[in-house]
Amino acid sequence: MKLTYRYKLRPTKEQNATMIEWLNLCRRQYNYRLGQRLRWWSETRTPINSCPLNVSVVPVEKIYQDIREFRVQVRDGRKLGKDGLPITKKGDKHPNIVGGYVQWSTVQLGDLKNTKKLFPEYKKIHSQVLQDVINRVETGFSNFINPDKNGNRAGKPKFKGLHYYKSFTYSQLKNKHISDNQVDLSGIGKVDFVQHRPIPVLEWVASKLGKRVIKIDPWRTSQICCSCLNLVPKSLSDRWHSCPCGIEINRDENSARLQKSVGLGLDLRKIAPPRERSLPRTP
Ligand SMILES: [Zn+2]
Repeated sequence: MKLTYRYKLRPTKEQNATMIEWLNLCRRQYNYRLGQRLRWWSETRTPINSCPLNVSVVPVEKIYQDIREFRVQVRDGRKLGKDGLPITKKGDKHPNIVGGYVQWSTVQLGDLKNTKKLFPEYKKIHSQVLQDVINRVETGFSNFINPDKNGNRAGKPKFKGLHYYKSFTYSQLKNKHISDNQVDLSGIGKVDFVQHRPIPVLEWVASKLGKRVIKIDPWRTSQICCSCLNLVPKSLSDRWHSCPCGIEINRDENSARLQKSVGLGLDLRKIAPPRERSLPRTP
């Protein structure tokens, strides 16, 4: 299970300037890569519609020009598998064209080195951050051309203006990069952040499970029988709930069942005063 944490960063002026510069570079890169894909898509229509009449309105050799058959990985990947070894290794070949479809994110990831050659300012950006830009283009495009399970497609991805590219992502930030009130962002430095109150994990888990958290009054939930609602007094050391009505269950299970009823609207304080309803305790 993966939790998302959200904190407000308190960068220094220098760090702030770096972040703004990075955002702008990321945005330029995003628009450039999106443009590549939109142009290719409008020229060929291949990925969106397999109807033969629409396929290849330009000659096949033009579709694939400048696209090599494989990208060869230059170093081991950072992501580790269950065996602790890199999932992708130096020398691995990644096909750029599969079944006639250009694997655009592979092509564009491989092309980042040319971006760095042409625009050296991109060398300053952390590689994960830059790679994530390509992944965003891929996600936007794939939501556009692949319908979801209801058959709906997202709109055509748009170029992003100055104020519409607002974040960048370190895709593999680890716990070791985060201390009490600082996060170590490679290329930017240690950035202060504000520690808000702890994340309400229970609510989060419940929402992921499609359930709701209801706060209940725990009064007497350990003392009353979940089945007949009579009082069955026990001390904390009594771990078993044994009621004359016949129910024999673990004390915690009795409480849990009763708490569920309380959550659904049962008011234990409103039922007859437990003392009067108390049944003689079984010897
Ligand atoms: Zn009972």
